[in-house]
Amino acid sequence: MSSLDPRAPLVLDTRELGRRPGSQREVSLTAPAPADLGIEVLTVTEGSQIDFDLRLEAVMEGVLVTGTAQAVVDGECARCLEPIHEDIEVTFQELFVYEDRRHDEQDDSEDDETSRLEDDLVDLEPLLRDAVVLALPFQPLCQPDCPGLCPECGVRLIDEPGHTHEAAVDPRWAALGKLSTDEDQT
Ligand SMILES: [Zn+2]
Ligand SMILES: [Zn+2]
Repeated sequence: MSSLDPRAPLVLDTRELGRRPGSQREVSLTAPAPADLGIEVLTVTEGSQIDFDLRLEAVMEGVLVTGTAQAVVDGECARCLEPIHEDIEVTFQELFVYEDRRHDEQDDSEDDETSRLEDDLVDLEPLLRDAVVLALPFQPLCQPDCPGLCPECGVRLIDEPGHTHEAAVDPRWAALGKLSTDEDQT
């Protein structure tokens, strides 16, 4: 399954570490966002810039990748539908195990959770996807106390503080109200 392309933007070569535990390397890179990064209501636009600051550290079993990624997400407020455009920073840490370290394990199934190096290459994409999904709110809001839309006319309440409608009162009830007031006064 050595299908990683060493020139792909989210693939890192760890050979420089020489598999010597303790050797490490700092990597900063910018890569275009892959498609479908994010969740339904907030996504990183495909091809937009993602900035990574990473540390690759060789350990006994493999290579530990620690770092942050910064991206811009776009979506809309779950309450008022206003566009949201904001920076996010996600952090991650993942151990990529050397692929030849697992021949004694009974399961070769790919649903195994362990991340692996392939030809000493690290694929950042699954890591990035998980971190971004975890970092995003399921109900994004333009601001934490967004009042949403007026249920009657749909106006955006942030734009119109104090927005109200005349209470819709049935004229027959209004007449009754008046009557009872008159009675009270007698
Ligand atoms: Zn809003
Ligand atoms: Zn209204």
